[in-house]
Amino acid sequence: MRPLLTAELAVPPKFYDRPKGRIGRLGVWIKALRGANEEWGHCPVPAFLVEHPTAGLLLIDTGLTRSCAQPGGGNLGRIGKYGKVIMNPGQSAAERLTDRGIDPKTIKLVVMTHLHNDHASACCDFPEATFICDRDEWNAANAKRSWMKGYEPPQFDLAVDWKMVDYDSDPVESFAGFSRTLDLFGDGSVRLLSTPGHSAGHQSVLLKLDHGELLVIADAAPTEAILDGDAYPLISDDEYQMDKSLREIRAYRQLTPNALLIPGHDSEAWSRLDPVYGAAG
Ligand SMILES: [Zn+2]
Repeated sequence: MRPLLTAELAVPPKFYDRPKGRIGRLGVWIKALRGANEEWGHCPVPAFLVEHPTAGLLLIDTGLTRSCAQPGGGNLGRIGKYGKVIMNPGQSAAERLTDRGIDPKTIKLVVMTHLHNDHASACCDFPEATFICDRDEWNAANAKRSWMKGYEPPQFDLAVDWKMVDYDSDPVESFAGFSRTLDLFGDGSVRLLSTPGHSAGHQSVLLKLDHGELLVIADAAPTEAILDGDAYPLISDDEYQMDKSLREIRAYRQLTPNALLIPGHDSEAWSRLDPVYGAAG
């Protein structure tokens, strides 16, 4: 498994550590809507490449597509105009794969943790892939005015295969602290975990590698401080669900203390990652 840093985004101070109460929260929003300035910090926008021994290459999330590296360019939509993208030419997941001699068309499977614009921007770069998404997420992302919740439908309104997972009716099982999980290949190597709250149908991904387990938490806990309960994010679709998902991730951490947990947008945690981790299986 290889973590890929596809870009960084400038975020306003307190974005992932919001002040308590409505007024404090409003203050962060006002700062965010004024646009990026030197006070803002940077957070990683990741994708993950998994080399699976039997299923081949798969991706978790897509990160930003290459046009986002151009000033004023990109496909992040209306809400994206408020953000500042820090991205070098050649940094997108597809370009990084091409550099490694891998044709992006050979990626046959992409697991989407959710469809927010910083995760789905580069769906268009993997035209041969089947995309796996929670049905609740798909419905929320395709609802009217979903751009107000961070979605940009043209990013995923593509002629590709979408496979919806339904944690209410598929063969769902509980696993290591998580109440609703799906074993993607039936061999325990890649497990999808229902972790809604940040968005309607958010899912995290648990990989069993040869040396241990690795949990791609994604935005169920954007930072370690949020995972530890020391902070709360500015944005969540459903706070009750987000708290429930955080409790499940903490239960997993307690049951599996040697696992590596990767939060969604934590630059500190990102800087500690290795370029490659074991082999799936
Ligand atoms: Zn995100």
